[in-house]
Amino acid sequence: MPNRIPEAAIHAIIEAGRRMAERNWVPATAGNISVRLPGDRVAITRSGFHKAHLSADAVMAVDLHGAPEDPALRPSAETGLHCGIYRAFPDTRAVVHGHSIANTVLSRRAGDTIRLEGYELLKVLPGLDTHAAAVALPVLDNDQDIPRLQAAVEARWARMAAPALPAYLIRGHGIYVWGPDMDAALARLEGLEFMLACKMAAISLGGSDP
Ligand SMILES: [Zn+2]
Repeated sequence: MPNRIPEAAIHAIIEAGRRMAERNWVPATAGNISVRLPGDRVAITRSGFHKAHLSADAVMAVDLHGAPEDPALRPSAETGLHCGIYRAFPDTRAVVHGHSIANTVLSRRAGDTIRLEGYELLKVLPGLDTHAAAVALPVLDNDQDIPRLQAAVEARWARMAAPALPAYLIRGHGIYVWGPDMDAALARLEGLEFMLACKMAAISLGGSDP
């Protein structure tokens, strides 16, 4: 019999889904949300549920390699990417993934990074305490083969100066953001989405954004 998922983890996932849906970052059944549990377990949204109105039965448990505890349940298609983040960054306790207009449009136009510079909200990222900073958000090509995409993510992390930013974009698809708890992951997501929306607005006005 599968172990129960702690109530707090289910609540955190349901609330995160509601918050992301309010911002229009999880259209249709897009996006997925997970929480790291004790004992190398991960609670994650099941495939096919709208994130605006998740309930406890929309959340299931997998191991750190994405294998479901209950084989009758199908986890989110991108579970392997969540698990890859938890394996690479053991302090991570929450991962959120959304498909916003800004992250979709900008990642389609980008090279292999998107530069964010001079924004006050850069301070939401770990280790940054001033707007006078710049970060290069990694952009990976989209791939329906999740193990192959995860291998590309790991290859990119290996090339990045440590510590890696707790976020990456998938081209024309969406963003992954993580943190030491759900509040931190959501704050980082909101900060990054705000900066990406600003960048898109600047470009729409015919200007440039460094
Ligand atoms: Zn996705």
